Amino acid sequence: MSSLAQEHKAVNLSQGFPNFDPDARLRRLVFDHMEMGDNQYAPMPGTPLLRARIAEKIEHTYQGLQLNPDTEITVTAGATQALFCAFAAFIRPGDEVILIEPCYDSYRPSIETVGGVVVPYRLSAPDYSIDWEDVKKRITPKTKMICTNTPCNPTGKILSSEDLDQLAQLLRDSSIIHVSDEVYEHLVFDGQQHASSLTHPELRKRSMAIYSFGKTFHTTGWKIGYLVAPPEITVEFRKVHQFNVFSANHPIQAALADYLADTSTYSDLNSFYQEKRDFFLNAVKSSRLRPLACEGTYFQLFDYSAISNENDLQFCKAMTKEIGVATIPVSAFFSNNQDDKVIRVCFAKTKEVLLDAAVRLCAL
Ligand code: PMP
Repeated sequence: MSSLAQEHKAVNLSQGFPNFDPDARLRRLVFDHMEMGDNQYAPMPGTPLLRARIAEKIEHTYQGLQLNPDTEITVTAGATQALFCAFAAFIRPGDEVILIEPCYDSYRPSIETVGGVVVPYRLSAPDYSIDWEDVKKRITPKTKMICTNTPCNPTGKILSSEDLDQLAQLLRDSSIIHVSDEVYEHLVFDGQQHASSLTHPELRKRSMAIYSFGKTFHTTGWKIGYLVAPPEITVEFRKVHQFNVFSANHPIQAALADYLADTSTYSDLNSFYQEKRDFFLNAVKSSRLRPLACEGTYFQLFDYSAISNENDLQFCKAMTKEIGVATIPVSAFFSNNQDDKVIRVCFAKTKEVLLDAAVRLCAL
């Protein structure tokens, strides 16, 4: 959709990245660390200072939770690389992995690359809610792993602490590993709280929780993130990480370690993005697009069935060409291309861009 957007000079609300720069201080820190000579390989699990700062960030964000940065935190080249290594470390040919769809599109190919078999559980519009009894039905003796994503791309839904309780109950007495994609942990709206698997004592013992500085600091192009897991899981994860990438970008790690010392760099993000969501929703109020609930992430879903009967891919292509707004068909996040007549819009954009897109959408 991004290349179609370019071809038609459309406003691009499709791919999930901000159209504004990260904080100038953070950019300056990267430059300073390059000048200071942090230009060679970083230690394999990440620099000790950055891992210590991540542990402090977790302690600050999650009610004093204490982690050991040496044995439980690994810095990665973004969340996608962490996901791949997490799958490769534990999945062997024929192992089953339960994926809750619609989901981030790297999960399935990464799992299949290492011989895993995806067992999908498909949710439906408009509320995309999870029935844990339905999840239970997909567990077999071959189930090795289950992946969750909260806040969820593309649905914008979040898991509650009750959801985590139900998941923990399902996994009790099994050796199933839980991959918890929490890259949007700081983008939760309307006073709700992010329910991290790290805060769930039972789930935490079997979870690999994955984060991305790309989402938190508007730096998706820097590809840097981290994985948090118990020591015995981390050991296995690092065996793959070591030979997959060895270590992540050194000057950026050094800069992030300095930047994270100030907790306000990540604690105001919820309101920053909530304001963008509300601004955009208000601007498209008079359109015939029906917004679905968005509890977190920087994605807003819209049901377009009042406008067209086309399938979502055709609708997105036509919108890009005819009114000049590029969005993503939600069918792209389903392995069977389930078409609920829903599109995904990324609102991590400046107000001018959001307004320009909204005016065009209102004309639909
Ligand atoms: N997980 C989810 C749910 C995402 O939406 C994304 C980015 N689109 C990622 C992981 C990847 O993050 P990164 O850019 O750090 O690889």
